[in-house]
Amino acid sequence: MNMNSTGRPTRADKTSSSKNAEIKSAALLPDEPLLFEIGGYEHSGVDLFEVEINDEFLGGFERKTSLDLPGLSEPECLRHYVRLSRLNMSIDAGIYPLGSCTMKHNPRLNEKIARLAGFADIHPLQPVSSVQGALEMIDELALWLMELTNTSAVSMSPKAGAHGELCGMMAIKAALEAKGQGHRSIVLVPDSAHGTNPATAAFLGYKVRSIPANKNGVVDVEAVIAALDDDVAAIMLTNPNTCGLFEPDVIKIADAVHDAGGYFYCDGANFNAIMGLVCPGDLGIDAMHINLHKTFSTPHGGGGPGAGPVVLSKALAPFAPVPFVKKSGSDLSLIEHVNDSDSFGRLTAFHGQIGMFTRSLAFMLSHGKDGITQVAYDAVLNANYVRVRLQKVFSLAFGDQACMHEVLFDDSFLKGTGVSTLDFAKAMIDEGFHPMTMYFPLVVSGAMLIEPTESESKKTLDYFCDKMLELANDAIAGNVDRFKQAPKYAPLARLDETLAARQPKLKWTKS
Ligand SMILES: *Cc1c(COP(=O)(O)O)cnc(C)c1O
Repeated sequence: MNMNSTGRPTRADKTSSSKNAEIKSAALLPDEPLLFEIGGYEHSGVDLFEVEINDEFLGGFERKTSLDLPGLSEPECLRHYVRLSRLNMSIDAGIYPLGSCTMKHNPRLNEKIARLAGFADIHPLQPVSSVQGALEMIDELALWLMELTNTSAVSMSPKAGAHGELCGMMAIKAALEAKGQGHRSIVLVPDSAHGTNPATAAFLGYKVRSIPANKNGVVDVEAVIAALDDDVAAIMLTNPNTCGLFEPDVIKIADAVHDAGGYFYCDGANFNAIMGLVCPGDLGIDAMHINLHKTFSTPHGGGGPGAGPVVLSKALAPFAPVPFVKKSGSDLSLIEHVNDSDSFGRLTAFHGQIGMFTRSLAFMLSHGKDGITQVAYDAVLNANYVRVRLQKVFSLAFGDQACMHEVLFDDSFLKGTGVSTLDFAKAMIDEGFHPMTMYFPLVVSGAMLIEPTESESKKTLDYFCDKMLELANDAIAGNVDRFKQAPKYAPLARLDETLAARQPKLKWTKS
Protein backbone atom coordinates (compact mmCIF):
# COMPACT_ATOMS: atom_id res chain seq x y z
CA MET A 1 0.00 0.00 0.00
CA ASN A 2 1.27 3.47 -0.83
CA MET A 3 1.06 6.27 1.68
CA ASN A 4 1.22 9.93 0.83
CA SER A 5 2.70 12.59 3.09
CA THR A 6 -0.36 12.54 5.33
CA GLY A 7 0.05 8.82 5.85
CA ARG A 8 -3.14 8.24 3.95
CA PRO A 9 -3.36 5.34 1.56
CA THR A 10 -3.57 6.37 -2.08
CA ARG A 11 -4.65 4.69 -5.26
CA ALA A 12 -1.31 5.46 -6.90
CA ASP A 13 -0.12 1.87 -6.67
CA LYS A 14 -3.12 0.47 -8.52
CA THR A 15 -2.03 -2.99 -9.44
CA SER A 16 -1.96 -4.18 -12.99
CA SER A 17 -5.04 -5.35 -14.77
CA SER A 18 -3.33 -8.68 -15.36
CA LYS A 19 -5.18 -11.73 -14.22
CA ASN A 20 -4.37 -13.14 -10.82
CA ALA A 21 -3.63 -9.69 -9.47
CA GLU A 22 -2.06 -10.03 -6.08
CA ILE A 23 -4.48 -9.62 -3.20
CA LYS A 24 -2.80 -7.56 -0.56
CA SER A 25 -3.64 -8.19 3.03
CA ALA A 26 -3.80 -4.76 4.55
CA ALA A 27 -6.33 -4.04 7.29
CA LEU A 28 -8.45 -2.01 4.94
CA LEU A 29 -7.88 -2.71 1.29
CA PRO A 30 -7.79 0.52 -0.64
CA ASP A 31 -7.40 -1.33 -3.87
CA GLU A 32 -9.53 -4.40 -4.27
CA PRO A 33 -8.96 -5.62 -7.82
CA LEU A 34 -11.91 -6.08 -10.14
CA LEU A 35 -13.47 -9.52 -10.16
CA PHE A 36 -12.12 -9.89 -13.71
CA GLU A 37 -8.61 -9.25 -12.45
CA ILE A 38 -8.77 -12.10 -9.95
CA GLY A 39 -8.78 -15.69 -11.15
CA GLY A 40 -8.43 -17.03 -14.67
CA TYR A 41 -10.91 -17.51 -17.47
CA GLU A 42 -10.03 -21.10 -18.36
CA HIS A 43 -11.87 -22.66 -15.44
CA SER A 44 -15.19 -22.34 -13.83
CA GLY A 45 -15.66 -22.22 -10.07
CA VAL A 46 -18.16 -25.07 -10.33
CA ASP A 47 -18.08 -28.43 -12.07
CA LEU A 48 -20.32 -28.43 -15.10
CA PHE A 49 -21.13 -31.27 -17.46
CA GLU A 50 -19.72 -31.14 -20.94
CA VAL A 51 -22.75 -30.32 -23.07
CA GLU A 52 -23.18 -31.46 -26.65
CA ILE A 53 -24.24 -28.32 -28.49
CA ASN A 54 -26.69 -28.90 -31.26
CA ASP A 55 -25.94 -26.20 -33.85
CA GLU A 56 -29.30 -26.55 -35.49
CA PHE A 57 -31.15 -26.04 -32.26
CA LEU A 58 -29.42 -22.68 -31.70
CA GLY A 59 -30.01 -21.61 -35.29
CA GLY A 60 -26.41 -20.63 -35.88
CA PHE A 61 -26.39 -18.23 -32.95
CA GLU A 62 -24.13 -20.31 -30.71
CA ARG A 63 -21.22 -18.40 -29.17
CA LYS A 64 -17.96 -18.87 -31.09
CA THR A 65 -15.61 -17.07 -28.70
CA SER A 66 -14.97 -17.61 -25.04
CA LEU A 67 -17.31 -15.88 -22.60
CA ASP A 68 -14.39 -14.54 -20.53
CA LEU A 69 -16.11 -14.88 -17.20
CA PRO A 70 -13.71 -14.96 -14.28
CA GLY A 71 -13.36 -18.47 -12.87
CA LEU A 72 -13.40 -18.24 -9.12
CA SER A 73 -14.12 -20.71 -6.39
CA GLU A 74 -16.97 -19.90 -4.03
CA PRO A 75 -14.70 -18.63 -1.21
CA GLU A 76 -12.65 -16.50 -3.63
CA CYS A 77 -15.78 -14.92 -5.02
CA LEU A 78 -17.38 -14.46 -1.61
CA ARG A 79 -14.27 -12.83 -0.17
CA HIS A 80 -14.08 -10.37 -3.03
CA TYR A 81 -17.55 -9.08 -2.26
CA VAL A 82 -17.08 -9.15 1.50
CA ARG A 83 -13.88 -7.12 1.11
CA LEU A 84 -15.70 -4.63 -1.10
CA SER A 85 -18.54 -4.40 1.41
CA ARG A 86 -16.03 -3.42 4.11
CA LEU A 87 -15.13 -0.34 2.09
CA ASN A 88 -18.71 0.84 2.38
CA MET A 89 -20.33 2.90 5.05
CA SER A 90 -23.69 1.36 5.83
CA ILE A 91 -26.65 1.85 8.11
CA ASP A 92 -25.67 -1.41 9.81
CA ALA A 93 -22.30 0.13 10.78
CA GLY A 94 -23.41 3.47 12.19
CA ILE A 95 -25.75 6.47 12.08
CA TYR A 96 -26.34 7.60 8.48
CA PRO A 97 -28.00 11.01 8.81
CA LEU A 98 -28.34 11.68 5.08
CA GLY A 99 -31.13 14.25 4.86
CA SER A 100 -34.01 13.55 2.46
CA CYS A 101 -32.88 9.92 2.11
CA THR A 102 -34.36 8.44 5.32
CA MET A 103 -31.59 5.95 6.03
CA LYS A 104 -33.35 4.07 8.80
CA HIS A 105 -32.68 0.62 10.23
CA ASN A 106 -33.94 -2.24 8.05
CA PRO A 107 -35.59 -4.68 10.50
CA ARG A 108 -34.29 -8.23 10.02
CA LEU A 109 -37.78 -9.64 10.32
CA ASN A 110 -38.53 -8.01 6.95
CA GLU A 111 -35.49 -9.70 5.44
CA LYS A 112 -36.70 -13.05 6.68
CA ILE A 113 -40.14 -12.56 5.13
CA ALA A 114 -38.69 -11.38 1.82
CA ARG A 115 -36.68 -14.60 1.60
CA LEU A 116 -39.71 -16.89 1.82
CA ALA A 117 -39.58 -19.03 -1.31
CA GLY A 118 -43.12 -18.08 -2.37
CA PHE A 119 -41.93 -14.49 -2.77
CA ALA A 120 -38.22 -14.82 -3.46
CA ASP A 121 -38.20 -17.67 -5.98
CA ILE A 122 -41.00 -16.72 -8.34
CA HIS A 123 -40.77 -15.35 -11.85
CA PRO A 124 -42.84 -12.56 -13.39
CA LEU A 125 -43.83 -14.79 -16.29
CA GLN A 126 -45.14 -17.63 -14.13
CA PRO A 127 -48.83 -18.51 -14.63
CA VAL A 128 -50.94 -16.18 -12.52
CA SER A 129 -52.64 -19.18 -10.91
CA SER A 130 -49.28 -20.16 -9.37
CA VAL A 131 -48.54 -16.76 -7.79
CA GLN A 132 -51.86 -15.95 -6.13
CA GLY A 133 -50.16 -15.36 -2.77
CA ALA A 134 -47.69 -12.87 -4.22
CA LEU A 135 -50.50 -10.98 -5.97
CA GLU A 136 -52.48 -10.92 -2.74
CA MET A 137 -49.46 -9.49 -0.97
CA ILE A 138 -49.12 -6.73 -3.61
CA ASP A 139 -52.85 -6.03 -3.37
CA GLU A 140 -52.71 -5.78 0.41
CA LEU A 141 -49.75 -3.39 0.27
CA ALA A 142 -51.65 -1.30 -2.29
CA LEU A 143 -54.60 -1.12 0.13
CA TRP A 144 -52.35 0.08 2.96
CA LEU A 145 -50.86 2.77 0.72
CA MET A 146 -54.29 4.03 -0.32
CA GLU A 147 -55.49 3.90 3.28
CA LEU A 148 -52.48 5.84 4.58
CA THR A 149 -52.89 8.51 1.90
CA ASN A 150 -56.71 8.53 1.48
CA THR A 151 -56.50 8.15 -2.28
CA SER A 152 -58.44 6.13 -4.88
CA ALA A 153 -55.82 4.19 -6.81
CA VAL A 154 -52.18 3.21 -6.74
CA SER A 155 -49.73 2.11 -9.39
CA MET A 156 -47.24 -0.35 -7.96
CA SER A 157 -44.87 -0.58 -10.93
CA PRO A 158 -42.50 2.43 -10.53
CA LYS A 159 -39.06 1.28 -9.45
CA ALA A 160 -37.94 4.41 -7.57
CA GLY A 161 -39.08 7.84 -6.46
CA ALA A 162 -37.97 9.51 -9.68
CA HIS A 163 -39.72 6.77 -11.67
CA GLY A 164 -42.86 7.40 -9.61
CA GLU A 165 -42.68 11.07 -10.51
CA LEU A 166 -42.57 10.07 -14.16
CA CYS A 167 -45.57 7.77 -13.68
CA GLY A 168 -47.64 10.42 -11.88
CA MET A 169 -46.78 13.15 -14.36
CA MET A 170 -47.60 10.83 -17.28
CA ALA A 171 -51.02 10.25 -15.71
CA ILE A 172 -51.44 14.04 -15.40
CA LYS A 173 -50.40 14.52 -19.02
CA ALA A 174 -52.87 11.85 -20.17
CA ALA A 175 -55.66 13.44 -18.09
CA LEU A 176 -54.99 16.88 -19.57
CA GLU A 177 -54.99 15.48 -23.10
CA ALA A 178 -58.28 13.68 -22.43
CA LYS A 179 -59.79 17.03 -21.39
CA GLY A 180 -58.51 18.77 -24.52
CA GLN A 181 -55.97 20.62 -22.38
CA GLY A 182 -52.88 19.03 -23.91
CA HIS A 183 -51.51 22.46 -24.84
CA ARG A 184 -50.62 23.17 -21.21
CA SER A 185 -46.83 23.22 -21.26
CA ILE A 186 -45.61 24.53 -17.90
CA VAL A 187 -44.93 22.82 -14.59
CA LEU A 188 -44.40 24.88 -11.43
CA VAL A 189 -41.55 23.67 -9.24
CA PRO A 190 -40.35 25.36 -6.02
CA ASP A 191 -36.64 26.15 -6.15
CA SER A 192 -36.00 24.00 -3.07
CA ALA A 193 -37.22 20.89 -4.94
CA HIS A 194 -35.24 17.70 -5.40
CA GLY A 195 -33.52 17.73 -8.80
CA THR A 196 -35.67 14.84 -9.97
CA ASN A 197 -38.78 17.12 -10.00
CA PRO A 198 -37.63 19.56 -12.72
CA ALA A 199 -35.89 16.65 -14.49
CA THR A 200 -39.17 14.70 -14.65
CA ALA A 201 -41.06 17.71 -15.97
CA ALA A 202 -38.38 18.40 -18.59
CA PHE A 203 -38.24 14.73 -19.61
CA LEU A 204 -41.94 14.90 -20.48
CA GLY A 205 -41.40 18.03 -22.55
CA TYR A 206 -42.69 20.55 -20.01
CA LYS A 207 -41.05 23.88 -19.30
CA VAL A 208 -40.28 24.50 -15.64
CA ARG A 209 -41.41 27.69 -13.92
CA SER A 210 -39.54 28.12 -10.67
CA ILE A 211 -41.28 29.27 -7.47
CA PRO A 212 -39.06 30.88 -4.81
CA ALA A 213 -39.10 29.81 -1.16
CA ASN A 214 -39.96 32.65 1.23
CA LYS A 215 -37.80 33.71 4.17
CA ASN A 216 -39.31 30.94 6.30
CA GLY A 217 -38.27 28.22 3.85
CA VAL A 218 -41.78 27.46 2.56
CA VAL A 219 -43.81 28.35 -0.54
CA ASP A 220 -46.25 31.29 -0.41
CA VAL A 221 -49.65 30.73 -1.93
CA GLU A 222 -49.35 34.26 -3.41
CA ALA A 223 -46.20 33.26 -5.32
CA VAL A 224 -48.03 30.24 -6.72
CA ILE A 225 -51.08 32.29 -7.73
CA ALA A 226 -48.81 34.80 -9.48
CA ALA A 227 -47.26 31.97 -11.51
CA LEU A 228 -50.58 30.30 -12.53
CA ASP A 229 -52.10 30.75 -15.96
CA ASP A 230 -53.85 28.74 -18.70
CA ASP A 231 -50.55 27.18 -19.68
CA VAL A 232 -49.81 25.54 -16.33
CA ALA A 233 -50.22 21.76 -16.37
CA ALA A 234 -49.28 21.04 -12.77
CA ILE A 235 -47.33 21.97 -9.69
CA MET A 236 -44.79 19.55 -8.23
CA LEU A 237 -44.61 20.32 -4.52
CA THR A 238 -42.74 18.39 -1.86
CA ASN A 239 -44.44 18.13 1.52
CA PRO A 240 -42.91 18.13 4.06
CA ASN A 241 -40.46 20.06 1.91
CA THR A 242 -36.74 19.57 1.45
CA CYS A 243 -35.98 22.24 4.07
CA GLY A 244 -37.58 19.84 6.58
CA LEU A 245 -40.67 22.05 6.97
CA PHE A 246 -44.38 21.35 6.54
CA GLU A 247 -45.90 23.58 3.85
CA PRO A 248 -48.54 25.48 5.87
CA ASP A 249 -50.41 26.75 2.79
CA VAL A 250 -50.58 23.38 1.05
CA ILE A 251 -54.40 23.24 0.91
CA LYS A 252 -54.67 26.79 -0.42
CA ILE A 253 -51.99 25.97 -3.01
CA ALA A 254 -53.90 22.82 -4.08
CA ASP A 255 -57.14 24.83 -4.44
CA ALA A 256 -55.45 27.57 -6.45
CA VAL A 257 -53.84 25.07 -8.84
CA HIS A 258 -57.14 23.18 -9.32
CA ASP A 259 -59.06 26.43 -9.90
CA ALA A 260 -56.56 27.25 -12.65
CA GLY A 261 -57.19 23.85 -14.31
CA GLY A 262 -53.89 22.26 -13.25
CA TYR A 263 -53.02 19.16 -11.21
CA PHE A 264 -51.13 18.79 -7.95
CA TYR A 265 -48.22 16.35 -8.02
CA CYS A 266 -46.88 15.86 -4.51
CA ASP A 267 -43.35 14.59 -4.02
CA GLY A 268 -43.97 12.22 -1.12
CA ALA A 269 -40.37 11.25 -0.43
CA ASN A 270 -40.70 12.78 3.03
CA PHE A 271 -43.87 10.90 3.96
CA ASN A 272 -42.00 9.40 6.92
CA ALA A 273 -42.64 12.59 8.88
CA ILE A 274 -46.42 12.54 8.59
CA MET A 275 -47.59 8.99 7.91
CA GLY A 276 -50.51 7.92 10.05
CA LEU A 277 -51.06 11.58 10.97
CA VAL A 278 -51.84 13.37 7.71
CA CYS A 279 -53.51 11.90 4.61
CA PRO A 280 -52.10 13.63 1.53
CA GLY A 281 -55.42 12.94 -0.21
CA ASP A 282 -57.04 15.30 2.32
CA LEU A 283 -54.58 18.02 1.27
CA GLY A 284 -55.83 17.91 -2.33
CA ILE A 285 -53.02 16.02 -4.04
CA ASP A 286 -53.71 14.28 -7.37
CA ALA A 287 -50.63 12.06 -7.50
CA MET A 288 -47.83 11.27 -5.07
CA HIS A 289 -45.01 8.77 -5.06
CA ILE A 290 -44.06 6.96 -1.90
CA ASN A 291 -40.46 5.86 -1.61
CA LEU A 292 -40.92 2.44 -0.01
CA HIS A 293 -37.13 2.32 0.36
CA LYS A 294 -37.21 5.42 2.54
CA THR A 295 -40.49 5.41 4.42
CA PHE A 296 -40.92 1.68 4.84
CA SER A 297 -37.30 0.80 5.49
CA THR A 298 -36.32 -1.37 2.59
CA PRO A 299 -32.54 -1.39 2.13
CA HIS A 300 -31.31 1.30 -0.26
CA GLY A 301 -28.33 3.36 -1.26
CA GLY A 302 -25.82 2.56 -3.94
CA GLY A 303 -28.38 2.69 -6.69
CA GLY A 304 -31.20 0.42 -5.74
CA PRO A 305 -33.33 -1.51 -5.92
CA GLY A 306 -36.04 0.78 -4.63
CA ALA A 307 -39.76 1.05 -5.22
CA GLY A 308 -41.83 4.17 -5.78
CA PRO A 309 -45.54 3.31 -5.96
CA VAL A 310 -47.74 6.25 -6.96
CA VAL A 311 -51.09 6.94 -5.35
CA LEU A 312 -53.65 8.71 -7.51
CA SER A 313 -56.75 10.79 -6.86
CA LYS A 314 -60.15 9.85 -8.27
CA ALA A 315 -59.56 12.29 -11.13
CA LEU A 316 -56.35 10.56 -12.18
CA ALA A 317 -57.21 6.94 -11.37
CA PRO A 318 -58.52 6.11 -14.91
CA PHE A 319 -55.15 7.09 -16.37
CA ALA A 320 -53.07 4.71 -14.23
CA PRO A 321 -50.69 2.43 -16.14
CA VAL A 322 -50.98 -1.32 -16.61
CA PRO A 323 -50.37 -3.84 -15.16
CA PHE A 324 -52.46 -3.83 -12.00
CA VAL A 325 -53.88 -6.49 -9.72
CA LYS A 326 -57.62 -7.12 -9.78
CA LYS A 327 -59.46 -9.07 -7.14
CA SER A 328 -62.74 -10.84 -7.82
CA GLY A 329 -63.86 -12.95 -4.91
CA SER A 330 -60.80 -14.85 -3.78
CA ASP A 331 -59.34 -14.88 -7.31
CA LEU A 332 -56.58 -12.43 -8.16
CA SER A 333 -55.71 -11.56 -11.71
CA LEU A 334 -53.13 -9.33 -13.25
CA ILE A 335 -54.57 -6.93 -15.80
CA GLU A 336 -51.91 -6.55 -18.48
CA HIS A 337 -53.98 -4.98 -21.25
CA VAL A 338 -56.99 -2.69 -21.18
CA ASN A 339 -58.92 -1.80 -24.28
CA ASP A 340 -60.89 1.42 -24.71
CA SER A 341 -59.48 2.91 -21.56
CA ASP A 342 -57.68 6.09 -20.61
CA SER A 343 -54.66 4.22 -19.15
CA PHE A 344 -51.45 5.73 -20.43
CA GLY A 345 -50.14 2.23 -21.05
CA ARG A 346 -47.25 0.23 -19.69
CA LEU A 347 -44.51 1.90 -17.67
CA THR A 348 -42.18 -1.03 -17.04
CA ALA A 349 -41.72 -4.60 -18.15
CA PHE A 350 -43.14 -6.24 -15.05
CA HIS A 351 -45.12 -5.51 -11.94
CA GLY A 352 -42.66 -3.84 -9.56
CA GLN A 353 -40.04 -4.83 -7.01
CA ILE A 354 -41.47 -7.77 -5.13
CA GLY A 355 -38.62 -7.90 -2.61
CA MET A 356 -39.30 -4.29 -1.66
CA PHE A 357 -43.04 -4.89 -1.49
CA THR A 358 -42.62 -7.82 0.87
CA ARG A 359 -40.31 -5.91 3.18
CA SER A 360 -42.59 -2.86 3.22
CA LEU A 361 -45.71 -4.83 4.01
CA ALA A 362 -43.82 -6.70 6.75
CA PHE A 363 -42.79 -3.29 8.16
CA MET A 364 -46.40 -2.07 8.08
CA LEU A 365 -47.93 -5.21 9.57
CA SER A 366 -45.34 -5.44 12.34
CA HIS A 367 -45.86 -1.77 13.26
CA GLY A 368 -49.63 -1.60 12.83
CA LYS A 369 -51.51 1.69 12.52
CA ASP A 370 -50.42 2.93 15.94
CA GLY A 371 -46.81 1.91 15.32
CA ILE A 372 -46.69 3.69 11.98
CA THR A 373 -47.97 6.87 13.63
CA GLN A 374 -45.34 6.44 16.33
CA VAL A 375 -42.65 6.20 13.64
CA ALA A 376 -43.64 9.65 12.36
CA TYR A 377 -43.71 11.14 15.88
CA ASP A 378 -40.31 9.66 16.72
CA ALA A 379 -38.72 10.74 13.44
CA VAL A 380 -39.83 14.32 14.09
CA LEU A 381 -38.84 14.17 17.77
CA ASN A 382 -35.34 12.90 16.92
CA ALA A 383 -34.76 15.61 14.32
CA ASN A 384 -35.87 18.30 16.74
CA TYR A 385 -33.64 16.85 19.46
CA VAL A 386 -30.65 17.18 17.11
CA ARG A 387 -31.81 20.68 16.13
CA VAL A 388 -32.02 21.92 19.70
CA ARG A 389 -28.67 20.43 20.68
CA LEU A 390 -26.77 21.65 17.60
CA GLN A 391 -28.32 25.07 17.14
CA LYS A 392 -26.23 26.39 20.04
CA VAL A 393 -23.25 26.36 17.64
CA PHE A 394 -24.63 25.53 14.19
CA SER A 395 -26.67 28.11 12.27
CA LEU A 396 -30.26 27.17 11.42
CA ALA A 397 -31.10 28.00 7.82
CA PHE A 398 -34.58 29.37 8.54
CA GLY A 399 -34.40 30.56 12.12
CA ASP A 400 -35.52 29.06 15.37
CA GLN A 401 -38.59 27.06 14.34
CA ALA A 402 -39.55 23.42 14.85
CA CYS A 403 -38.68 21.11 11.97
CA MET A 404 -40.27 17.92 10.73
CA HIS A 405 -38.12 14.79 10.26
CA GLU A 406 -34.92 16.60 9.23
CA VAL A 407 -33.12 19.76 10.26
CA LEU A 408 -31.44 22.19 7.89
CA PHE A 409 -28.36 24.23 8.82
CA ASP A 410 -26.41 26.62 6.61
CA ASP A 411 -22.69 27.40 6.64
CA SER A 412 -22.81 30.83 8.27
CA PHE A 413 -21.39 29.39 11.54
CA LEU A 414 -18.28 28.44 9.51
CA LYS A 415 -17.84 31.93 8.05
CA GLY A 416 -14.22 33.09 8.33
CA THR A 417 -12.96 29.71 9.59
CA GLY A 418 -11.57 28.55 6.23
CA VAL A 419 -13.59 25.35 6.68
CA SER A 420 -16.27 24.62 4.07
CA THR A 421 -19.32 22.41 4.31
CA LEU A 422 -17.41 19.84 2.25
CA ASP A 423 -14.41 19.90 4.63
CA PHE A 424 -16.76 19.54 7.58
CA ALA A 425 -18.48 16.55 5.99
CA LYS A 426 -15.13 14.88 5.28
CA ALA A 427 -14.09 15.33 8.93
CA MET A 428 -17.31 13.56 9.99
CA ILE A 429 -16.09 10.46 8.13
CA ASP A 430 -13.04 10.33 10.42
CA GLU A 431 -15.43 10.31 13.38
CA GLY A 432 -17.21 7.27 11.93
CA PHE A 433 -20.32 9.00 10.61
CA HIS A 434 -21.73 9.07 7.15
CA PRO A 435 -22.00 12.81 6.39
CA MET A 436 -25.35 14.55 6.28
CA THR A 437 -26.68 15.74 2.92
CA MET A 438 -24.61 18.71 1.82
CA TYR A 439 -25.27 21.61 -0.54
CA PHE A 440 -28.91 20.56 -0.86
CA PRO A 441 -31.43 22.13 -0.96
CA LEU A 442 -29.86 24.74 -3.21
CA VAL A 443 -31.79 27.62 -1.64
CA VAL A 444 -29.38 27.70 1.31
CA SER A 445 -25.65 28.53 1.31
CA GLY A 446 -23.52 25.48 2.16
CA ALA A 447 -26.59 23.50 3.24
CA MET A 448 -26.24 20.71 5.84
CA LEU A 449 -29.42 18.63 5.97
CA ILE A 450 -29.52 16.17 8.87
CA GLU A 451 -32.13 13.40 9.11
CA PRO A 452 -31.52 11.08 12.06
CA THR A 453 -34.70 8.98 11.51
CA GLU A 454 -36.75 7.34 14.23
CA SER A 455 -34.53 4.29 14.53
CA GLU A 456 -31.67 6.02 16.41
CA SER A 457 -31.64 5.87 20.20
CA LYS A 458 -31.10 8.90 22.44
CA LYS A 459 -27.68 7.51 23.29
CA THR A 460 -26.65 7.42 19.63
CA LEU A 461 -28.07 10.89 19.02
CA ASP A 462 -26.17 12.25 22.03
CA TYR A 463 -22.93 10.71 20.81
CA PHE A 464 -23.53 12.14 17.34
CA CYS A 465 -24.38 15.62 18.69
CA ASP A 466 -21.36 15.61 21.04
CA LYS A 467 -19.04 14.85 18.13
CA MET A 468 -20.73 17.36 15.82
CA LEU A 469 -20.40 20.12 18.44
CA GLU A 470 -16.78 19.16 19.07
CA LEU A 471 -16.06 19.40 15.32
CA ALA A 472 -17.85 22.74 14.99
CA ASN A 473 -16.03 24.22 17.97
CA ASP A 474 -12.73 22.95 16.57
CA ALA A 475 -13.44 24.64 13.23
CA ILE A 476 -14.34 27.89 14.97
CA ALA A 477 -11.17 27.61 17.11
CA GLY A 478 -9.13 27.65 13.89
CA ASN A 479 -7.98 24.04 13.65
CA VAL A 480 -8.36 24.09 9.88
CA ASP A 481 -5.88 21.28 9.22
CA ARG A 482 -8.08 18.63 10.80
CA PHE A 483 -10.69 19.48 8.17
CA LYS A 484 -8.51 20.04 5.11
CA GLN A 485 -6.69 16.73 5.71
CA ALA A 486 -9.87 14.75 6.27
CA PRO A 487 -10.70 11.99 5.83
CA LYS A 488 -7.53 10.46 7.23
CA TYR A 489 -8.95 7.06 8.09
CA ALA A 490 -11.04 6.27 5.03
CA PRO A 491 -9.54 3.86 2.49
CA LEU A 492 -9.97 6.49 -0.20
CA ALA A 493 -9.78 10.21 0.47
CA ARG A 494 -11.01 13.06 -1.69
CA LEU A 495 -12.02 11.76 -5.04
CA ASP A 496 -12.67 13.86 -8.10
CA GLU A 497 -16.36 13.09 -8.14
CA THR A 498 -17.08 15.45 -11.02
CA LEU A 499 -14.54 13.72 -13.24
CA ALA A 500 -15.87 10.33 -12.16
CA ALA A 501 -19.42 11.39 -13.07
CA ARG A 502 -18.48 13.03 -16.36
CA GLN A 503 -16.02 10.42 -17.60
CA PRO A 504 -17.00 7.19 -15.89
CA LYS A 505 -14.92 4.14 -16.73
CA LEU A 506 -17.59 1.52 -17.09
CA LYS A 507 -15.87 -1.02 -19.29
CA TRP A 508 -13.16 -3.52 -18.48
CA THR A 509 -11.12 -4.81 -21.37
CA LYS A 510 -9.19 -8.00 -21.17
CA SER A 511 -5.50 -7.26 -21.55
C1 LIG B 1 -35.17 10.60 -2.67
C2 LIG B 1 -35.99 11.68 -3.22
C3 LIG B 1 -36.49 11.63 -4.53
C4 LIG B 1 -36.11 10.56 -5.53
O1 LIG B 1 -36.29 9.27 -5.09
P1 LIG B 1 -35.41 8.08 -5.72
O2 LIG B 1 -36.01 6.85 -5.18
O3 LIG B 1 -34.01 8.32 -5.25
O4 LIG B 1 -35.51 8.18 -7.21
C5 LIG B 1 -37.31 12.65 -4.95
N1 LIG B 1 -37.62 13.67 -4.15
C6 LIG B 1 -37.15 13.77 -2.88
C7 LIG B 1 -37.55 14.94 -2.03
C8 LIG B 1 -36.31 12.78 -2.38
O5 LIG B 1 -35.84 12.87 -1.14
